[in-house]
Amino acid sequence: MDKIVVFETYYNPIEANIVKSRLMDADIQCFLSDENTITLNPLYTQALGGVKLHLFEKDVDLARSILQETIPPLETPEEEEKGEFVCPKCGSHDVGYVQATKKRFGILTMLVSILLLVYPFSVKKVHHCFNCLHEYK
Ligand SMILES: [Zn+2]
Repeated sequence: MDKIVVFETYYNPIEANIVKSRLMDADIQCFLSDENTITLNPLYTQALGGVKLHLFEKDVDLARSILQETIPPLETPEEEEKGEFVCPKCGSHDVGYVQATKKRFGILTMLVSILLLVYPFSVKKVHHCFNCLHEYK
């Protein structure tokens, strides 16, 4: 029988759940304890020592490496469709429909995606002129 250890302690039940689902996705058996008490009464957090994430001792290393993995972008870079559009500013045909280079994501989108551990899903796309760098919709 494998030993079950406390892998990590969280003061935020949401964060604990995010980590838990990531590990479950990777087929690592784990569970949270004291989660309900803390969700119902956050004041008990200190007393109970936070939400504890338990898993098998043998899975600890694997779990750590999974959580350290950087998340690859969901989208592969799209092919630039050159020549289909004309830049309204300089008249060049060297225009691609690409992710906006200016202000790619709002700071809020960034924060939310970091929190949810996902790549920002709403990527703004614009027509980008490779000649004069003008961007338009
Ligand atoms: Zn242009």
